[in-house]
Amino acid sequence: MSIRQRAYPTPEQTEMLYTHIHHTRFVYNIAVAQRMMFDRQSRERQRVKDTDDPSKLRLNLRHQGHDLAELRQELPWLGEGSSAVQQSALRDVEKAFSNFFARRASYPHFKRRDDAKSFTVRDVSVRRLNRRFGVLTVPKAGSLRFRITRDWDDIRKAKSARVTLRNNCWNVSFTTDPPPRRETGDGVLGVDCGVAITLATSDRDMLHVPTLSGGERKRFVSLERELARKPKKKGEPDSANRTKTKHKLGRLQQRLTNRRKDFIEQMTTFFAESYEVAVLEKLQIANMTKRPKPKPDRVKTGQFLPNGAAAKSGLNRAILASCWGMFNQRLSDKMLVVKVSASYTSQQCHRCGHTAEENRKSQAEFCCQQCGLVDNADVNAAKTIRNRYLQQPRDTGDRVEAVATATVETNLQIV
Ligand SMILES: [Zn+2]
Repeated sequence: MSIRQRAYPTPEQTEMLYTHIHHTRFVYNIAVAQRMMFDRQSRERQRVKDTDDPSKLRLNLRHQGHDLAELRQELPWLGEGSSAVQQSALRDVEKAFSNFFARRASYPHFKRRDDAKSFTVRDVSVRRLNRRFGVLTVPKAGSLRFRITRDWDDIRKAKSARVTLRNNCWNVSFTTDPPPRRETGDGVLGVDCGVAITLATSDRDMLHVPTLSGGERKRFVSLERELARKPKKKGEPDSANRTKTKHKLGRLQQRLTNRRKDFIEQMTTFFAESYEVAVLEKLQIANMTKRPKPKPDRVKTGQFLPNGAAAKSGLNRAILASCWGMFNQRLSDKMLVVKVSASYTSQQCHRCGHTAEENRKSQAEFCCQQCGLVDNADVNAAKTIRNRYLQQPRDTGDRVEAVATATVETNLQIV
């Protein structure tokens, strides 16, 4: 797992970071070239049966470490750089080749100037400056300031950090241990997609999709107003100011999109690693966005009860729908997803199966009129969804069989 944070180097530091990047690429490429040459020679030696000892046929990290030390003495400009950073490049080469030999990756290739803008810092040492900023100690560059947006404890425990330059922005990616796998019993997860709680699971997770913060929302509204004050004249290109405002709005929207994508990637990865099957409702986008039926008030004639029309209308709803769609898509990419009928999942008790409108006391509260179960309404729905999958009639009692038929079903739905 990795945590990426934005870094803010000083101009002097920036120069040093570039130097590290160049040295890393130089060492990486020269080490790859050396291994290629060695591979070619050892194939030749194998052919003429010069040696049968496989350890003599492969270059390793230790050999190349010695060679690097010599090279640093031969090339003063390289010797002035950080040995630790350059050694890390050798580790990357080692990793790339072991991935290749384990058939996890293709043969390592040379890094080009424009796609290899990063270097690694091992033995991470970080310090927190204040609530918002921390520093990472980078060899020869000193304390590199970065913005903290994640749990400090996770950053503190990082094993290594990678400094990267992307789109003219410096970032630090901290590599951390993956979160512990959750004990999940039968490995079946029920998920309910809702408005109040974006995703509720049968294991009581209640997850909210990230939104803009209060300050960001204010800025968003004021930018939209600004844009409205600068109307586009017909047949003319946008004015410079209008373009500027548009870009500002675009960046804010991009930030929100990034946040949502990140949330969805993290959630789906976590679910895929912890469970074997995810059970979802057959979502009907049309149902989610169509106007709810009017609910006549039985006590006062001629009047209507609230039917949730306000909650269904507006941008919020559209955003949520796109979020569920993306969640569904990414989850299906990562694990087996089974769809069950969505009817009355919010009104059915997951314990006794009793279905009644009265079971749902309010938006959040579920209280079964038959068995007296009290639970969060969305969690109950997720558990009901999970039960529907578990209670599905199967051809055989064999679990593998059941999973296989489920795959066929999901595939059919995609088609
Ligand atoms: Zn019940």
